[in-house]
Amino acid sequence: MYNAVICRYHEIAIKGNNRREFEKQLIGNMRHFLRDKVNCKVRQVRGRIWLEHPDRNALFSETELAAVREILSRVFGLESFSPARLVSPEMDAIRDAVAQMAPPVFAARFARQQTVSFRIRARRSNKEFPLRSKEIEIDLAAVVARGLENDDRLTVDLDNADITIGCEVRHEFAAVFLETFRAPGGLPVGCNGRVLGLLSGGIDSPVAAYLAMKRGCFVDFITFHSAPYTPPESVDKVRRLAEKLNAYQPAGTLYVCNLAPLQKQIRDLCTERNRTVLYRRAMLRIAEKTAHRHHCGALLTGEAVGQVASQTLTNMSTINAAVDMLVLRPLCGADKADSIRIAEAIDTYSISIIHAPDSCTVFAPSSPATSVPRHIADAEEAKIPDYEALLDAIADQAEVFPAGVAR
Ligand code: ATP
Ligand code: MG
Repeated sequence: MYNAVICRYHEIAIKGNNRREFEKQLIGNMRHFLRDKVNCKVRQVRGRIWLEHPDRNALFSETELAAVREILSRVFGLESFSPARLVSPEMDAIRDAVAQMAPPVFAARFARQQTVSFRIRARRSNKEFPLRSKEIEIDLAAVVARGLENDDRLTVDLDNADITIGCEVRHEFAAVFLETFRAPGGLPVGCNGRVLGLLSGGIDSPVAAYLAMKRGCFVDFITFHSAPYTPPESVDKVRRLAEKLNAYQPAGTLYVCNLAPLQKQIRDLCTERNRTVLYRRAMLRIAEKTAHRHHCGALLTGEAVGQVASQTLTNMSTINAAVDMLVLRPLCGADKADSIRIAEAIDTYSISIIHAPDSCTVFAPSSPATSVPRHIADAEEAKIPDYEALLDAIADQAEVFPAGVAR
């Protein structure tokens, strides 16, 4: 039934000079995701993006439309989209399209409910078109109602209709559509730079990465394991999470670092209760070095105030003070239940709950300190000979997985 898809984005985010950049990024991302999956043209025409079948006279198959729907539901920056039929910008062609497209959609509704309300919404950017928007709406309403004039199961509702038939008339074509699907909103990934996300196997950090992508950040990932004290499954899990998250962006790279050499030093030389904070400071420092090397402008964590012992204000301040780079914490004020809901929606939850020990749990103190002031952490780290060289070595030896793809 359809040979095009109308894609809509909010203009609020693109006011001013960055509008072109925003649109370029959005179209680039759409092309990336559609590539090899759906053969279509993607073009931007005044405030809308149109996906079109390469052959104007051919229609998309059901399989292609299902793929388009699945793909567009993952493209940040899009607000909604509607599969559409493009026809020549003439009233007869528009009427024919409505007459052909409406019956199956109405029949499907009538199969589910007693009465069905509808409305027509027309827009014309071609002001030379002989009918005005209102007149187009009245004309097409008559086409829909043809044969159903005395059927009181069909009603018109201009505010809250079950079915809205849209018609857009432009100079070069007219489009008719009957369904609108929500897209995820946000900003196109990449229009707000590149960040490095600290990805554990937990529930929160994948959600934090997702939220940063939604705000237009391209996310590379870094994870820490403690082989041989943590099993390979701990890293496999993170690789699967990175792969899931890469469904929302052109693939981010995963850096895998072994923290164990430093953890042994911390175990042997520092106060037991302070270990967790010292681990987390080391993670941030190694992440900062990695971010500088790969042109990431900020770090990203799944921390939320008050969630675990390392996330008291004092400990977060002490951890934060380890680096100069901006650290994004999108979950700062989130409840665990909020994170879980998002994790379920983006399908990372089922991976996150698989049991595999985290690097932070290696030599973990039975009772971690909830308040480690900065000067104490500094003094603890000063006890470790060649602390800085050890951090560099860990960053240097990172395993790199360009697309984070699981083995
Ligand atoms: P998560 O569910 O994301 O693991 P959490 O509530 O369990 O978070 P912590 O384990 O203290 O809290 O971790 C806080 C943040 O530190 C994580 O969200 C993540 O960004 C980072 N982090 C913790 N462990 C690791 C790790 N092994 N590798 C990379 N980052 C980590
Ligand atoms: Mg954790």
